[in-house]
Amino acid sequence: MSILRRLARRYRIDRGKRFRLRDHDPEDCAGLTKDEAEALLPECIERLAALQDRLYADDRWAVLLIFQAMDAAGKDSAIKHVMSGINPQGCQVYAFKAPSAEELDHDFLWRTACRLPERGRIGIFNRSYYEEVLVVRVHPELLARQRLPDACVHDALWEERYQSIRDHELHLARNGTLIRKFFLHVSKGEQRRRFLKRIEDPERNWKFSEADVGERAHWDDYMRAYEDAIRATARPHAPWFVVPADHKWFTRLVVAAALIDALESLQLEYPKLAEEQRRALARARRALARER
Ligand code: ATP
Ligand code: MG
Repeated sequence: MSILRRLARRYRIDRGKRFRLRDHDPEDCAGLTKDEAEALLPECIERLAALQDRLYADDRWAVLLIFQAMDAAGKDSAIKHVMSGINPQGCQVYAFKAPSAEELDHDFLWRTACRLPERGRIGIFNRSYYEEVLVVRVHPELLARQRLPDACVHDALWEERYQSIRDHELHLARNGTLIRKFFLHVSKGEQRRRFLKRIEDPERNWKFSEADVGERAHWDDYMRAYEDAIRATARPHAPWFVVPADHKWFTRLVVAAALIDALESLQLEYPKLAEEQRRALARARRALARER
């Protein structure tokens, strides 16, 4: 098995039942060195560009990539590096922040549903509807702001949200959306180091937000929420990848490997022309040749 395929399989969670976050080491590099990983990435980026070209030409599958993580885990930089060779016309990135008043007036899947990728495109969700079982679970006051009727707020609410997410993803998969979900798993110690870097380096100051330190105080609650969400929503048609995120060079390689594996599984081909279309091409060639 090639090294990329091995990486894609190693961190993939297809069934959440036995998933435990503590079995996953944020520092893991699968025995690779930084030099080895960095040497592999350009080849991945080239392969992704070719696969995306076929996805676009085939125009039947949509690809949805979901990125979730604690602050400073490297979502932005993984997206930037892994997608760097991709034709911007075939790719849509949406970052979901705290919901607007209009978004809060709708059910929790509404705002992301309007931004799902079209056929032939790769859609990237930088955060997603999973925030509804992560930050909203950790901060019950956010749930209060959603103004759900009392009858909808009960002990089974989180289980019902998982079920809505599972149903939604199954529906998408049945209708031609390939789904891959990435949890960039950074350790608390590495997050601290990255925050300090953002504070100390003037060129990184803009990335620092005091609110991020506040969220860090809820670390254990977040980890429980992530574990529960992954357990409840990992399925073969919508797998999670729990990607070690203490080394950014490794995170990028694993995300790229998972994406290559996913796109290759579609066995995409350039559309083949029908007999009549081939005759039309021949006519066009003759007409163009006559111009000379
Ligand atoms: P970066 O910090 O790298 O710019 P980010 O994704 O952390 O990226 P921020 O603007 O810092 O972006 O944070 C967005 C915030 O919005 C996060 O704290 C996230 O938890 C919150 N958020 C996202 N979706 C929801 C939601 N449905 N309900 C409440 N808060 C949400
Ligand atoms: Mg942030």
